[in-house]
Amino acid sequence: MEIYKIVPLSDNLWAIDEIGKTVMYVVNGTEKALLLDTGFGFVPLREVVRSLCGEKPVVVVNSHGHGDHNSGNNQFDVVHVGRFDEPASHAIVTPEDRVQFQQMFFEQFTAQGGSLPEWNPGPAPCVAVLCDGDRIDLGGYSFEVLECPGHSPGSIALFEETHRWLFTGDLLLTWEVWGQLEGSTALCVYQKSLERLAQYESRVDKVFPAHWVDPCGFPPYQLPPRILSLYAQGTARIVSGEDKGVPYPFGGKPMRCAFFEIGGMVYDPTRIGLA
Ligand SMILES: [Zn+2]
Ligand SMILES: [Zn+2]
Repeated sequence: MEIYKIVPLSDNLWAIDEIGKTVMYVVNGTEKALLLDTGFGFVPLREVVRSLCGEKPVVVVNSHGHGDHNSGNNQFDVVHVGRFDEPASHAIVTPEDRVQFQQMFFEQFTAQGGSLPEWNPGPAPCVAVLCDGDRIDLGGYSFEVLECPGHSPGSIALFEETHRWLFTGDLLLTWEVWGQLEGSTALCVYQKSLERLAQYESRVDKVFPAHWVDPCGFPPYQLPPRILSLYAQGTARIVSGEDKGVPYPFGGKPMRCAFFEIGGMVYDPTRIGLA
């Protein structure tokens, strides 16, 4: 079993699927390449990006500061992350984290006969921050940073207007998002971010999330734009109290989950964030 596979999605755009558990994206501009997320860090990312894009500077960005998306940051000198996830981006993985990652992400791969090298996650020596409205210009591709606090306080989406692409990290998925982990925002804040993304629905053709499981009825790694309003409206119904969800025990807490036409939202009923 391969540790990773590279899937071409469009001219100059690839997904890198690492052990079927996390997805990174590579965009090849005329001047620079973009690597969005560094996954668990089992992939030799410099070599992979070079093989796709040739010798050119690589801009490395994290969609957010969770370990399934930034553990390969130590392969690079500089990694960019949304400003409010900068603190998390210096974190050193603890023995408890190792156990958790083993159970949540690695066990299935090894149980199916895959073998993994020793896990060596770590931060980049320099964490550079991105703010709302910042632009990442590669030559031929220009990404606008959209701050979307929610799943994590520093979650960002990247919008490429000309090619009508939106990269959304963990903000929305084809199955229920673990929307309120320990460091996540109040759900009403998350909902505002989803509302904002929904305003981009008519301006994008493809939405690229940071996790993927097949089959789900959509072309690989690409969600239809209407997922943006489905999540905004579905989460609004939780915040307003109209959708009370169903019990969803998670992390030892009495979480709940509201399911949408696509995906859903796992949330903490004590953290809606409104009086
Ligand atoms: Zn996450
Ligand atoms: Zn994730």
